[in-house]
Amino acid sequence: NKNIHIESIKAIPQTDDLINDCMECGFCEPACPSDGYTLTPRQRISAYRNMEALPEIRNNPALYNEMKALYQFKGIESCAETGMCALRCPVGINTGAFMHALRGENPSKLQDMAQRHFSKVEKGARLAVGAVQALGVNRIANLTESLHGKFEGIPIIPKSLPHRVTDFNQTREITARDRAEHKKGKQVVYFVSCVNRSLSEVGSGTSTFTHTVNLFKKAGITPIIVGDGLCCGQPFESKCNHQVADQATLSLNRELLRASNKGEIPIYIDNAPCAKRIFEAKKRGFLDDHLKLYDAVSYIDSHIVPNLTITPKSEALLLHVPCSITAIGEKEALTRIAGRCTDQLVMSDIDCCGFAGDKGFKQPELNRNSLRHLPLKSDGCASGVSASKTCQIGLTETSGLPFASIEALLDECSEAQKG
Ligand code: SF4
Ligand code: SF4
Repeated sequence: NKNIHIESIKAIPQTDDLINDCMECGFCEPACPSDGYTLTPRQRISAYRNMEALPEIRNNPALYNEMKALYQFKGIESCAETGMCALRCPVGINTGAFMHALRGENPSKLQDMAQRHFSKVEKGARLAVGAVQALGVNRIANLTESLHGKFEGIPIIPKSLPHRVTDFNQTREITARDRAEHKKGKQVVYFVSCVNRSLSEVGSGTSTFTHTVNLFKKAGITPIIVGDGLCCGQPFESKCNHQVADQATLSLNRELLRASNKGEIPIYIDNAPCAKRIFEAKKRGFLDDHLKLYDAVSYIDSHIVPNLTITPKSEALLLHVPCSITAIGEKEALTRIAGRCTDQLVMSDIDCCGFAGDKGFKQPELNRNSLRHLPLKSDGCASGVSASKTCQIGLTETSGLPFASIEALLDECSEAQKG
């Protein structure tokens, strides 16, 4: 048959602009935390196309509804939506963004109220964490794990849940002395993310906030601390409540403009997923162009590390680069900083851990699936390091190694330069 190369070609039905260019090559699959658990990005696209365009399915309401119901979990709800697939895709398709779009807008009065009274929500979260500690984390973890197995929707409390933060202390006003210090180029606005205002380092009980302030002190930098009642909007964005998420970002913008003296003073943002959300919001015009924003890793790499004396640990250290760090282009900087703190750096080589905000509590199976090979990497390592608090919880839980933030690790291995 001379026409064999052009016959029986697989149909690629056009169903949505976000995925129409997909040729179902599968290059994206190794990045996906749900590969082996539910669907890969390629399978998500292929299943959607078949469901929406194949006449055999479209014209059979019973079959169509059955597929749609299955797709709701296997396609949409089990996607971490962190978009690591897009970085491997030759045509840049972000299946996570497509799944997010399929979820649609989800307005909620409760979330609107939570955003407007964020200080109270934060206080409540700290009290809840304190109550779990008082009752015994292991006991609550075992109980929630067994309930989660029996009843859909019951979240788990992981055994590695960190202690609540008790020492967060915001700078109340910017003084004349602060301004004078700024003229010497030695000042930074430190936006402490809500997760780091609530949860300490995994295992140690010291807050990431304390470690970061220590680093500023060693490098001779004065921080102006902000955060109380503020949120980057990520928790609302992940619930598809985009309007409330953007309101949160606008409030943050006002406070950052005030604290940075209309953008004169650089701004340090801790916790990588929050920095990613803030950078994206700035591109969409929700943050003032004058603000000089740094994520923690790039600021530490450029402003802090050069002013420290670092003594590397003589033990193997496992580094997990969070997907948010890869997405903002700081993978090399994080690897460089971690490499200064150990004489043996081991990479997790996992694109996305699948913890995905609070999904790691509600759907821990996704995180466990993504990290199923981590114990092979952690064998022989004494500890781990990363740059996102929720990732660190899942990584500690799965590997059994304590995963610190990069700030805590660097604080432990460094001192101020003499002279
Ligand atoms: S890499 Fe891109 S084109 Fe290939 S299957 Fe994945 S989404 Fe489709
Ligand atoms: S966003 Fe993440 S979980 Fe979703 S399809 Fe892409 S790689 Fe997989």
